[in-house]
Amino acid sequence: MTERQVSPLPEAARNRVLAHAAAQSGVMNGLAQALWQRPELGYLEQESSAALAAACEAAGFAVTRGVADLPTAFVARRRRGDGPVIGLLAEMDALPGFSQDASPRRSPIPGQSNGHACGHHLFGAASVGAALALAAWQDETGTGGEIRLYGCPAEEGGAGKVYMARAGLFDDLDIALHWHPDDCNTVWQSRSLASIGARVRFHGRTAHAAQSPEQGRSALHGLEAFHHMAALLREVVPQGSHIHYVTLQGGLAPNVIPDFAESHVNVRHPDPRIAAEIFARLEAAAEGAALGTGTRAEVVRLGAVHSILPNATVGAVMQANMAVLPRIRWSDEERAWAEELQQSFDTPPPLERIGQLDPYRFDLQGAFSSDVGDVSWIAPTGALGTATWVPGTRPHTWQAVAAGGMSIGWKGMQAAAEGLAVSAAQFLSDPALVAAARKDHRAARGEGYRYRALVGEAPPPLDYQRDHG
Ligand SMILES: [Zn+2]
Ligand SMILES: [Zn+2]
Repeated sequence: MTERQVSPLPEAARNRVLAHAAAQSGVMNGLAQALWQRPELGYLEQESSAALAAACEAAGFAVTRGVADLPTAFVARRRRGDGPVIGLLAEMDALPGFSQDASPRRSPIPGQSNGHACGHHLFGAASVGAALALAAWQDETGTGGEIRLYGCPAEEGGAGKVYMARAGLFDDLDIALHWHPDDCNTVWQSRSLASIGARVRFHGRTAHAAQSPEQGRSALHGLEAFHHMAALLREVVPQGSHIHYVTLQGGLAPNVIPDFAESHVNVRHPDPRIAAEIFARLEAAAEGAALGTGTRAEVVRLGAVHSILPNATVGAVMQANMAVLPRIRWSDEERAWAEELQQSFDTPPPLERIGQLDPYRFDLQGAFSSDVGDVSWIAPTGALGTATWVPGTRPHTWQAVAAGGMSIGWKGMQAAAEGLAVSAAQFLSDPALVAAARKDHRAARGEGYRYRALVGEAPPPLDYQRDHG
């Protein structure tokens, strides 16, 4: 895949989009604070989803709630005349065990367990702010096209976008844009890994292990044979494949032949089609293991996501615009706050990093998986990151929660909304760029490609976070 170069949105238009983004800062800050103060876990984001959807509705978007049989997913649409459909993804879920106030030292909030340790409250609020700014800019300039905001629940382990993709909600999208909170500013078009997870269960027959072993059929033997075959399989799969497994249950006492054993397996590969092939071979291995041990195998798919498919044109548009947008600047108070927080790091990077744009990350292979992957195989997709966190902060840490609850997080969120809105405005103004992105997309997917969710027909795991609720 070759990298592309494009010019940014012309300055006059850029300044108008930035003015509309600035006008949304109050709405964005309000949403970010509301979500941060009430962090909700995956598929339980009732209030967060309602707040984001209501903000869209108040700006004249038509909102459909509960899409794809996900109670907290929604789609907000606003069309003006002819033109492409530009989708903005908005996440909103928090993580369990990350209670933290907005101070630069470890300080959990009493009585609270959840926290926005991945910054998805900023994610959702900035995407909504960008959508609202674009709608106002369209009204001012008469630019045609549809702005569509996707309220995507349960990114953290629930893969909400997969079920939205399976329901066809991204099928008529021309371009999908998203972002993620970070400790630096960056445009990235990296590949991730497709991932399929499953429980593999063996059902046997229990018996006294010494008195009547011939009566028994050990479910553990089924599991052991399966694990052995999975381990052998690793030698004869394409480069870059990963097969992981852990035993969840293998019996309770050695003098009882176990009638139940269970394993959790995970298959990953950069190409979702190869991940699916390897998974099918594991399913066959489970059948073979059951046959040889006189047990019965049951394979239950849990989550499964596609890898992220980079798009050279979308990445180039985002990179060109991010390069000319105003940089984040902190006040003296914010710097002091950040310096205090950095005392919790061994070797903190310089704070100046928040005022720079990191090198463009194009077509690199990452070792992570994300449900954005499914969107990217359906529509040309691009991502940016902005410094919502103090340099040195990683996702899923208390430091991320802390910065997300104060002005450092909100400034990064504003920068993200600007990057999304200006990039989207360029696609709305230039049909040739949309056509180029679609051409890249077709080439990257290959001839005759048809999207198929790797989860198959499995229902969404709506209760997966309920124990933490
Ligand atoms: Zn996360
Ligand atoms: Zn995240």
